[in-house]
Amino acid sequence: MNIFNFSAGPASLPKEVLLKAQAELIDWNGQGTSVMEVSHRGKPFIELAEKSEADLRRIMSIPDNYKVLFLQGGGRGQFFSVPLNLYKRGKRSQHLVSGQWSKGAVVEAQKYMACDVIGENFTVANLINVTRPEASQIDSSAAYFHYCTNETVDGIEINWLPETGDVPLVADMSSNILSKQLDVSKFGIIYAGAQKNIGPSGLALVIIRDDLLDFARDDTPSTFHYATQAKKDSMYNTPPTFSWYLASLVFDWIEEKGGLAQIEKINQEKAKRLYSFINNSDFYSNRIAPQYQSKMNVTFYLADEALNQAFLTQSNDAGLHALKGHRDVGGMRASIYNAMPLEGVDALIEFMSEFERVNG
Ligand SMILES: *Cc1c(COP(=O)(O)O)cnc(C)c1O
Repeated sequence: MNIFNFSAGPASLPKEVLLKAQAELIDWNGQGTSVMEVSHRGKPFIELAEKSEADLRRIMSIPDNYKVLFLQGGGRGQFFSVPLNLYKRGKRSQHLVSGQWSKGAVVEAQKYMACDVIGENFTVANLINVTRPEASQIDSSAAYFHYCTNETVDGIEINWLPETGDVPLVADMSSNILSKQLDVSKFGIIYAGAQKNIGPSGLALVIIRDDLLDFARDDTPSTFHYATQAKKDSMYNTPPTFSWYLASLVFDWIEEKGGLAQIEKINQEKAKRLYSFINNSDFYSNRIAPQYQSKMNVTFYLADEALNQAFLTQSNDAGLHALKGHRDVGGMRASIYNAMPLEGVDALIEFMSEFERVNG
């Protein structure tokens, strides 16, 4: 039986990537050892690091005036690293809170910054919308403006760019980075924990504009000090080498697929199929306004929630794993990141349709 894993994170990795890693596991790069067992300062690993950065720069069209860092600490590690590293720009940060993760970023930032929440969600006709901050709300003395482009828990994706003038735009893209084309030059800092669309957990990617490297608090720990890590090519401390290696295989896979233009097309098609099925059904519903429905995390509810357990048990038995929604929002969630093939989405729709036929 084909297994399709809809886990929100850590999430599925492309089969081709896992097979390549399996084939190279005990003899990587002709070394006679695995990639996990060699020095990060040796030539083979340095070459891997350099190639992966060059690949990512090409895939995302990252301009030359941005540094790319491969760090530890995951997504949440950046919740405190961002305020520490931008502290000398202003001691005040502005935030859009569109769901659980952007709220979590405020909780951490508040330890260092005066945080100003200038937009939250609102509900119209039972559908969740996101407030779009007005240019007049931006405080030009703020160190940065933070938002989350895709709320993994809630299933909310923001497709517009907040207009923040000279205030650097900082985006948590943990769950939709590499899912579509993006103009990196609009951002001051983009960061992402790896375990959704990049690779396994243990790695965080930070893409930062050069001019923002000079504002860290003096007491910022060196491991999380962007300028130190930039100077040391992300090797001030030992990087998570195996995660980095797997990320490099994922980058190869993205290029083999035709890059982000092609990946984006497939992601659009997957989301379109699943949302149109849900929207055309009275048995299932999604509670997000159409323009904010996430293409990565599709949240939905059964009209009769007494059937939730049966839905989860039977879907799991059918090889469709990890569909339970996050405990904070309930219901169901199908995470359909890059590694989820179209066939997985079709199999889910077929199951949902049959479940509705039997129980509706
Ligand atoms: C998963 C996730 C995080 C947290 O990542 P950790 O690696 O667990 O710290 C942060 N933000 C978003 C949007 C996420 O999806």
